[in-house]
Amino acid sequence: MAIYEFICPKCGNEFELMRPMSESDSRATCPKCGAIAKRQVSSFGSKTGFYVKVPEKPPFRKKARKTQAK
Ligand SMILES: [Zn+2]
Repeated sequence: MAIYEFICPKCGNEFELMRPMSESDSRATCPKCGAIAKRQVSSFGSKTGFYVKVPEKPPFRKKARKTQAK
């Protein structure tokens, strides 16, 4: 189980729901007005939510090294 944050686009209500990971993309309804709320993506805005954790500052590498072009 994980806690997901939702925000209601209608009334702006923010709330949290605990639900299994498998239902992380399921819709939730706002407890206030009943509108369909969107899941808030926390911190880094990764599509997978909690899965990817990016360090705040990537380790510095030598700029001269070009391994592969993007
Ligand atoms: Zn609402």
